[in-house]
Amino acid sequence: MPYPVVHLMFFVFCLSSSALYGFVNTARREGVHWTDWWHLILLLILGGFFSLLPDIPAVWNYLLHGNLEHTMAGPIPTHSLVFCSLAFFSTALLGQLLYMHRGKAVALGVFTWAASLSHLLLDDVAGAGISYLYPFYSGSMNLFSYMNIDLSEVNFMYYNLAGMVTVMIISSILLMTIWSLNYLGFGYKYQPLAARTNERENTSGKTAMPPGYSFK
Ligand SMILES: [Zn+2]
Repeated sequence: MPYPVVHLMFFVFCLSSSALYGFVNTARREGVHWTDWWHLILLLILGGFFSLLPDIPAVWNYLLHGNLEHTMAGPIPTHSLVFCSLAFFSTALLGQLLYMHRGKAVALGVFTWAASLSHLLLDDVAGAGISYLYPFYSGSMNLFSYMNIDLSEVNFMYYNLAGMVTVMIISSILLMTIWSLNYLGFGYKYQPLAARTNERENTSGKTAMPPGYSFK
């Protein structure tokens, strides 16, 4: 498994890059209130914590037993979709208290859920077996090893599907993050071409005015 700091960096600089970009842009152009800074910091702290959620048992195992065993929380594998859904339920509850708004509470839950799923993704890339489908299937899987499979070893359908499923899972985690961040105010919008043209015309409006015309 990658070191905790790598999980944190992956979450902050890869998954949350749209939020950082949008926030810095707005702060630079228009300025933001100090409460907005705290909002950003709160999201990064929550997301950072939940990006480490599947390895959390290492903390109490180290304190109680002196080892770093981190793959099980009682009978439940921590590197599974079920365990990661803890992130959603706990932060959706917290979000309801913070925002007093059901939509934003759900968005906060989806955001931290995506953060914990990014942990599975990174461990998967590093070659670890992940119990994605527990309790329906208790065995471990490694999606990225399926992507690397040779066409000659399997049939054509399997060869294509394995790669596509992996891409769709990565895409889903990215979309969960982008959607939830955007809902919470951290995003950027597409500006239609026509709007951009009008804006340019407005800014150069004075020079484009006919001779003799002036604002009064
Ligand atoms: Zn892990």
